[in-house]
Amino acid sequence: MSMIKIEHLRKEYPNVTPLKDVCAEINKGDVISVIGPSGTGKSTLLRCLNQLEEPTSGTVSIDGEVITDPKCNISLVRRKMGMVNIVENVMSAPVNLLKVPKEQARKEAMELLKRVGLAEKAENYPDELSGGQKQRVAIARAIAMKPEIILFDEPTSALDPTMVGEVLSVIRSLAKEGMTMMIVTHEMKFARDVSNRVFYMDEGGIYEDGTPQQIFENPTKEKTRIFIKRLKQLALEINSPDFDFIGFTSRIEQFGRDNIIDARIVRNMQLAFEELVIQNIIGKLGRDNSGFPINITVEYSETDAAAEMTIAYGGGKYDPFTDGDELSVMIVKKLAASVTYGYETENRVTVRFTA
Ligand code: ADP
Repeated sequence: MSMIKIEHLRKEYPNVTPLKDVCAEINKGDVISVIGPSGTGKSTLLRCLNQLEEPTSGTVSIDGEVITDPKCNISLVRRKMGMVNIVENVMSAPVNLLKVPKEQARKEAMELLKRVGLAEKAENYPDELSGGQKQRVAIARAIAMKPEIILFDEPTSALDPTMVGEVLSVIRSLAKEGMTMMIVTHEMKFARDVSNRVFYMDEGGIYEDGTPQQIFENPTKEKTRIFIKRLKQLALEINSPDFDFIGFTSRIEQFGRDNIIDARIVRNMQLAFEELVIQNIIGKLGRDNSGFPINITVEYSETDAAAEMTIAYGGGKYDPFTDGDELSVMIVKKLAASVTYGYETENRVTVRFTA
């Protein structure tokens, strides 16, 4: 049985509804990374889970107990769901975990500090700790409550880059120990390494849910793919043989400048565009206007540092790589990392470019 069940969770604010209808089940030992563009409700989801926010509708239950029920004991819920936010600046008294009277509690606190690598700092004051160390204390505090799950809301976002690693490595070691965690993060490599599940959030909910391998290597839905591959897109449409050729090549150039694409990739795309579209496709299909519109999509993936130009056109089956001008085709093949042609309801040529 799943440990936490989220059913039709909805959260409306006066001007925006970040969560429309979220359903998910979390199992004991799951480490879930929550990723997605900003403003898609990642933090709202975490806050609704531990009841820092009251959901507009829907339910959340832990071990069968519905915690969204107003009769539910809130402090008990918070104890079950530890939360670590961005670095807490205000912390009272020496690391504070130790301000407990009994020897047993002191020993436990010391164990916790050891787990986050701060046993030496037990007697230090917060001012003497770095951002990364403070964040590790915050994690130790969350563990001290023996929660069923720890929710991390961008635990490294306020940290100096040199301190991100130490915090992530503490979270990584908790994952190894089997702690159930849900982590909102922008650290993609970390999300990929540490979690067994990834929630990609968009359009008011969990838009795509899968293993890190599925989400990072084979996202199936369009928005996930754009986010993961950090895709930049340019769409051009040609409606007649007399289209503004100069204007179109300069738009490819502008697209390259806007997205800091390697100059050689840009130049190769322009050349391939010229050879394929002008020399072949329009030459062949443009005479009777049957091939229009010709739709050209250029996608650049920052993650792969590669670009892909897709040219789609009508006018009956025409594969420029077998039926086109030989010299043109040779040039394109030389410029490209790969070329493909397919025909379903229209012709579709894809050319891939790498630096
Ligand atoms: P994310 O964590 O994915 O960046 P958030 O959950 O912080 O997104 O926010 C989702 C949306 O809800 C945003 O448009 C944000 O402005 C809005 N929002 C968040 N908290 C509040 C609030 N307390 N009152 C009104 N709007 C809010």
